[in-house]
Amino acid sequence: MPPAIRLLSPATINRIAAGEVIERPAAAVKELVENALDAGASRIEIILTSGGIARIEVIDNGCGIAQSQLALAIERHATSKLADEALVRISTLGFRGEALPSIAAAARLTLISRPPGQDAAARITVAGGAVGAVSPAAGADGTRAIVEDLFYATPARKKFLRTPRAEADAAERAVWRLALSAPGVAFRLVSDERVMFDVPAQAEPARVAALFGRETAAAMLPLDAWREDIRLTGLAAPASLTRATMALQSFVVNGRPVLDPQLRMSLRLAYRDVIAPGRHPIAALRLEIPEDALDVNVHPAKTELRFADAGGIRSLIMGAIGRLLERPVSLAAAPPAFPSLALRPPASTTPGTMPAPPSAAARGFAEAEFASFAPAARQITPDPTLTTHPLGAPVAQILDTYILSVAADGALVITDQHAAHERLTEERLRAEFSAGRVASQPLLVPVVVDLPPADAMRLLAQAATLARLGLEIEAFGPGAVLVRALPAALKNPDAAGLLRDLADEFAEHGTPAALEAHLDSALARLACHRSIRAGRRLTPEEMSALLRDMEATPRAGTCSHGRPTFLKLSRAELEKMFGRRGM
Ligand code: ADP
Ligand code: MG
Repeated sequence: MPPAIRLLSPATINRIAAGEVIERPAAAVKELVENALDAGASRIEIILTSGGIARIEVIDNGCGIAQSQLALAIERHATSKLADEALVRISTLGFRGEALPSIAAAARLTLISRPPGQDAAARITVAGGAVGAVSPAAGADGTRAIVEDLFYATPARKKFLRTPRAEADAAERAVWRLALSAPGVAFRLVSDERVMFDVPAQAEPARVAALFGRETAAAMLPLDAWREDIRLTGLAAPASLTRATMALQSFVVNGRPVLDPQLRMSLRLAYRDVIAPGRHPIAALRLEIPEDALDVNVHPAKTELRFADAGGIRSLIMGAIGRLLERPVSLAAAPPAFPSLALRPPASTTPGTMPAPPSAAARGFAEAEFASFAPAARQITPDPTLTTHPLGAPVAQILDTYILSVAADGALVITDQHAAHERLTEERLRAEFSAGRVASQPLLVPVVVDLPPADAMRLLAQAATLARLGLEIEAFGPGAVLVRALPAALKNPDAAGLLRDLADEFAEHGTPAALEAHLDSALARLACHRSIRAGRRLTPEEMSALLRDMEATPRAGTCSHGRPTFLKLSRAELEKMFGRRGM
């Protein structure tokens, strides 16, 4: 006999759906806030305990749920929203009628609701799928949803929860995205009794400033572009302002915050040629797409979309950002293009003869060729004694960014001064750190850095470890951090940029031990900030010192982001490239 087929019980069905819809506390938070937005609330408060694992409370002042409908609200596939059953015109965030029953299957859910104008509120509690009676309750206009002991009824899922800290971060990110999607709604988020943000109803640019940080937002440029009947609006940062992670990217499609890989990719492509690998653009983008050109019913969590014209949307984003990046303000920060193929043989050398001896070749090269693009290149007189070193004697600095040097064997070396210095400082920091503590330099005037409160909290939680890295910080009111000392070798520190990048790093890796566990990336981050920038003019002595340092430093061939620090063209390679050999 084959095994019998039977219908699953509603409780099991809800548990299965819970696995898809409520994958972690952040997902429950998102669903409850979406319900509050759909209910037309103008103010939403979210209170989390232990990252939402122990308790999530979402309070809104929306339309409420009639007492007679409370029991129905937690039934599977029960919704007040789906007017168009063809699933084309979906104007609400919810429509599947799955969130409340899924939450109720995995946790203890209480709804207390009072439609405005009613005398009293009513409440209902469901625990692990068992529905209690509806009873009168005290409550203000609107709805309060309380979720307790998430996943106590689904132990398999409970095992996959991360630390309360990591879950709180994820929930905060979810609310951050929703708050960006609805700037006209006031949001307050409290996590373990700390106010993470509290923003009034405001215009979109003010909301972006509140949630991206005021300084960052001030540098962002507005964009507004159409492609057929699709509209793209929002703000995007110039190429000179980037982040260590994708944390400051928000996409809202037809009012819905999404985490869509296609949109992220389009943004990445738009910035591809202008920002360094490993850095991420900053943008708050909003797309309005005709409802029939969009399918939101791709994923139970509704965070990914299917676009009828995905290619068109990509072109729209790339085109609009491309135009924005062409604006002079961003161009000023970007170095001009590398002069094309400067690597021509010295004019004095007749084809077919042996090349001149190295030092003469070096001099000839400089004299004959650099004159023609003098503004981009600065020639210096090479010190012949230095050619014996592997990275040779510097002969010129190109674009205030690359050091050109010639070694004794005639090899031509091009060094990226920023990448090289970054590696040197990282190695030095690493050595100092493993010897105990990175030397720090107290600031004469401590610097106050404004940060989103959650970022500030993340950094302060790591203050002790940061101190071992030479970075001394203290709390300075909500959303501000006082920097008392920076790693000693840091020359012109951008304390704010450094703190933001470190906060991103912690947010991304989540655990309290982040800094220790990700010491490499923290060191790399520090190194990047304390290194000489591309675009700085170096003296011949500085160039030579940099090359000598590199020769003495381990792993000097790549920078902390894995890019090469120098390129070496041996005499043989040069001869081959010019067809003098192997023909
Ligand atoms: P959906 O949002 O897809 O309709 P849910 O399970 O999230 O499904 O919610 C079921 C129904 O409960 C909603 O359609 C709505 O009528 C009602 N509801 C849920 N939360 C709220 C709220 N905060 N305010 C008013 N009504 C709500
Ligand atoms: Mg819903």
